[in-house]
Amino acid sequence: MKIGLFFGSFNPVHTGHLIIANYMATQTELDQVWMVVSPQNPLKQKATLANDYDRLHLVQLAIGNNPHLRASNIEFSLPKPSYTVDTLAYLKEKHPEKQFALIMGGDNLATIHKWKNYEVLLRDYEIYLYKRPQYDAGEFGGYPNIRHFDAPLLDISATYVRDCLKARKSVQYLVPDAVFEYLEGSNLFRH
Ligand code: ATP
Repeated sequence: MKIGLFFGSFNPVHTGHLIIANYMATQTELDQVWMVVSPQNPLKQKATLANDYDRLHLVQLAIGNNPHLRASNIEFSLPKPSYTVDTLAYLKEKHPEKQFALIMGGDNLATIHKWKNYEVLLRDYEIYLYKRPQYDAGEFGGYPNIRHFDAPLLDISATYVRDCLKARKSVQYLVPDAVFEYLEGSNLFRH
């Protein structure tokens, strides 16, 4: 079984994330996509970053009963800050029967040389790369383990969703319905 890992703060998760996750899970060789919620870095707490379990809960609501997607809290219990290469090593050991690949946008690939042990990532893992029009995949775009996809894109960010919530504007359709309903009844991102 081949799992694609889609890492993010998901602060909060939005429809742009879901479109990518579902595209990768249903239109590529990946069997499933796990949306891995990055924990807060205790040394670097950002006032705008909701707590780990709230963000995880929103991802779970967003996924609902979609059998192709899973929410993962795997990094909550790993040493912080979490490095992708360490998380992958841990997952490989925990699930020896599964194969893991990374999902990333061209914007992330362009700066992958700043990641811990990026040569290991590029050598040992397949990367499912989706194009982001305003970014070039950079010098790493041609690596053999990189598979390019033209996924549909929605031009929104979690920052935009947070700004709307703070200004008491509707985020309906920007986030999945279950997330929208939950946020309507909560104070998350309102301050
Ligand atoms: P923020 O605005 O808070 O920086 P974000 O919307 O970029 O957040 P992240 O949780 O950082 O959300 O995103 C997780 C991953 O999804 C990142 O690799 C990011 O580049 C990518 N991503 C974010 N928004 C979109 C989008 N609209 N379409 C495709 N990929 C996206």
